[in-house]
Parts: sequence; structure tokens; C-alpha cells
Amino acid sequence: MKFNPSLLLCATLLNVHMMSSLAIAGNNENPAVQRGLTALKNNGAAARLAEGDQFSAREVVKDKDGSEHVRFERKHKGLRVIGGDIVVHMNAAGQSKGQHHTMESALQIDTIAQIDEASAIAMAEQQFAGTRNAPSTADLVIHARGAAMLSYEVLVHGEMHDGSPSEMHYFIDAKRGGIVDKWDGIETSAVTGSAKSLFDGVISVNTDSLSVGGYAMRDLTRGNNYVNNMANRTSGSGSLMTDADNVWGNSSTSDNATIAGDVAYGTLMTWDYYKNTHGRLGIANDGIGSSSKIHFGRNYVNAFWNDACKCMTYGDGDGRTYYPLVAIDVIGHEMSHGVMSSSAALVYSGESGGLNEANSDIFGMLIKFYAKNPSAPGNYLNGEKLLIANTGVTNPTKAFRYMFKPSLDGSSPDCYSSTIGSLDVHLSSGIANHFAYLLAEGAVVPTGFNLTPAQLVCNGNTSLTGIGRDALGKIWYRALTVYMTSNTNYAGARSATLSAAADIYGANTTQTTAVANAWSAVGVN
Ligand SMILES: [Zn+2]
Repeated sequence: MKFNPSLLLCATLLNVHMMSSLAIAGNNENPAVQRGLTALKNNGAAARLAEGDQFSAREVVKDKDGSEHVRFERKHKGLRVIGGDIVVHMNAAGQSKGQHHTMESALQIDTIAQIDEASAIAMAEQQFAGTRNAPSTADLVIHARGAAMLSYEVLVHGEMHDGSPSEMHYFIDAKRGGIVDKWDGIETSAVTGSAKSLFDGVISVNTDSLSVGGYAMRDLTRGNNYVNNMANRTSGSGSLMTDADNVWGNSSTSDNATIAGDVAYGTLMTWDYYKNTHGRLGIANDGIGSSSKIHFGRNYVNAFWNDACKCMTYGDGDGRTYYPLVAIDVIGHEMSHGVMSSSAALVYSGESGGLNEANSDIFGMLIKFYAKNPSAPGNYLNGEKLLIANTGVTNPTKAFRYMFKPSLDGSSPDCYSSTIGSLDVHLSSGIANHFAYLLAEGAVVPTGFNLTPAQLVCNGNTSLTGIGRDALGKIWYRALTVYMTSNTNYAGARSATLSAAADIYGANTTQTTAVANAWSAVGVN
């Protein structure tokens, strides 16, 4: 074996890692690298040295006691050797203390490729699951993670379906074709970040540590729910929200990462509510997460669920009367439209449409209570956090909707009538919201509202007593997922919830009787 390291050290020293205060020169003249090459030469068999090997130092670590560890990359006949890297250890006197590497044997390999680069690239691109967004490149290498094989390393760049970046490395057998090995250069791992949210205080969010640096707002522990930034656009899907230090936002809309925290948190709580309360894994009960688009358009005062993309979209509000629409009950509301779509799928018009909207209001309310967040306490209002006028108000009395007395919004009816199906679904929903309140709480006026019990019911039954939110949630969820169908109306909802209550609690029980009484109290008999 002919080997002369002093001639073969051809590349630059890329990185010098200092473990002590000792300064180490960042170039090839570094004496530690020279000592490392000498140690390599003197232990050639252990290092699997072959004629044609070349080494370039990548990193030098120096311990406090003077020991040195020099990391080298290997080339063979000018080709990079994947898996040929080696760390050479030396004591303070520069004597070899062994080495670490994974080469099975010294290379003896023919380096003439039988297939060309274009063919290798075509084979790799065929494997890529995402959407390519840059030209692919190929480089002839020796793949030595195992038995050495002449290969093309093909880099395919693109984006996966959830918007996350991907840089796939495919190793294609350069003699016969076929995939030898592959990995994604964009590595991910679940971590916990901190978010200074707009509505929910300082909260923990589950994020994704990216190998390229920084963090993405993606929850690997809950079906990969993720948040994209629309950056005021109204088309396309935006780009994944990322953050340099995993501390998101500043509790104000001045930082565009702030509401990413609200949305990630609301999504997490909604996921957990359905899972822990109803055993439902994700919106469609398939364990698959959903995506959220924030900063949609300009001054947009709405939020919506889209069945086609199984995604939520949130406007920023107008900044004068309305904050961004990212309160936890709004998030729970939108995601519950998704649950609706994969269960009863109540048609979004007429009485069934009102029930569809009410389903979202009911679960949005239950999720707000479930979260037990002191900054966004549970109540029977919907969307009160969105009103800028409520800033700092502990017990707000202004909201988008009032479940205990829907007419407080100025438009919704409190009591059922046969013409209700002609109303907008966001108004006809009031009857079922009203039912839900009375079933959970009875004819009890919430603190802060100047009403009498008689004003809460449509039939004078002021002795109506509630059976609690847990029972309401169980009964409504079972009615939705087992009994309601696309055209269910209010009479059908009464029947569905009675069947559900009888299934869970028995036919002649307090709970089943309470369901009948609560419907009667809103005029559905
Ligand atoms: Zn809705």
C-alpha cells in the first residue's frame, strides 16, 4: 500500500470546534490535523486505508487535558465516500489513541458508471412523494454504509403536501440502477415551544425542530396539525409558520407569529377534547391532522372551514372593532364543522343548517371550558374575545352569540317557530344553542346579565334544572354521530338526542327527561 498523507490532504479545514479556550487555527496548517494524518497513516489497516484514498479534515475537538479528536471526510479516486468518515483520537503528546469509523473494509471498487446521470435523476424523481421546486442534481459517489457500491447521490428538492420543505437524498446504483439508500436532508423532531398568544396568555405549543435550523408550527404529536401564513394573500396555501428560537409572538398583533400560537393551541385543545372526551382521533377520526391558514387577506372579519382541503382559514379582523378571529371557541367551532362533515353532514341550509351551525357553537363552547385557560375562561358566549371593546373585561357581556338568550345578538330567535328554516343558518342555530344551555344549566341566569329565569324559557318552565356540560357533550356527540343525518330538522334533533340520552343513561332517567324538558323549553315539542 502506498500512502502519503502529506500529499493527499487536499481540502480545506471546514470547521474548527473549540472545546477549550485554546485557540486552534482554522486551516490546513493546523498542527492537530497534521498529527491526525500521521496517526491515520500509522494505523492504516484499522482505518481501512486503500490506495486512492484522500482525507480532508472537517472538525477538530480539543479536550481540556490536551487530547485531540480530528474528524476527516474520505474520498476515493476523487469520489466522496458516503460512510467513509473517520475520527482519529490522540493524546496530549500527539500519540494515537485509536479511531472511530464504520467502514467494513478497505475500498476495492471499479469507479466506471454503467448508467448516466440523467437516468439516475429520473429514477430518483420517480420516488419523490412531494412537489419538486428546483432542478435535481446527481453526483457520482461511493456508498459505503455497508458493502461499498458505486452510486449516484441524487438530490431532489421540493415541498411535501403539508407545505414542509424536503431535500431527499437518493442513492442510485450506478452499475445496475435501483435505489440503494435514501434520506431526507430536512430532519424533524417534536419539541415544545412557548407562545405569547393574543388571547390565551403564555402557552406551551408543540412544534417541530428543523434540521436546517429553526422551528415549524407543526404538532407531530397530534396528526401533524400545522399552521401556514397566508401573508395577507387570499389564494394559494401560504407557507409553513417558522420561528428562529421557538418562542413565538409577543402577545400582540404587531408580531405575525403571535396568533400562530393561538391557532396551534386552539387546535391542540380541540384535538384533545375530542380524543379524551369522545375517543375521536382527529376531525375525521382517522388520526390525521388538519392545517390552518392565518393572516388571510386584509381586514378580513371571518374564519371558515373548507372541506376540500380539510383546513381552517382565519382572518385578521379589521383592527378597529375586531381582533383576529383566533379565539379558542372560534377554532373549536371551525374544526367542529369538519367533524360535522365526516359524521351527520347536516346540509347547510334550512333547519339542518341551523343545527349544523349550533353544533359548532356547542362544541366551541365545550372546548373553551375544556381548556381551563385562565386567560380565556369558559362561558356560554361565542367569540367574545374577538371584540376589541372587551379587552381587559373579566366577565364580558358583549359577544357574537349568547347561548342562554340568543336574541341578545339582536337577530336570533329564542324560541322555535315553523318559519325558522327560512332564516340564515347563523340565526336559526340559536334554538339549538338555547337548548344546549338549558340542558346543561337549567333556567339559571348567568352572572352579569339582567334577566329573569322566565326570560330564559319559552314555556314558563322556570324550574328547569340542568344536567351539566359533560352530559350535554356526551348526548350531543352521540346524537350527531349515531342518529342525525343530512336532512335532520329540529324535531329530528329532539328525537336524536332523546335516543342518545336513552342509550347512555337509560330511557327513564333524569338525563333523558331533562333532554325532553330542555327542547320543550325552546318550543321544540
Ligand atoms: Zn360556523
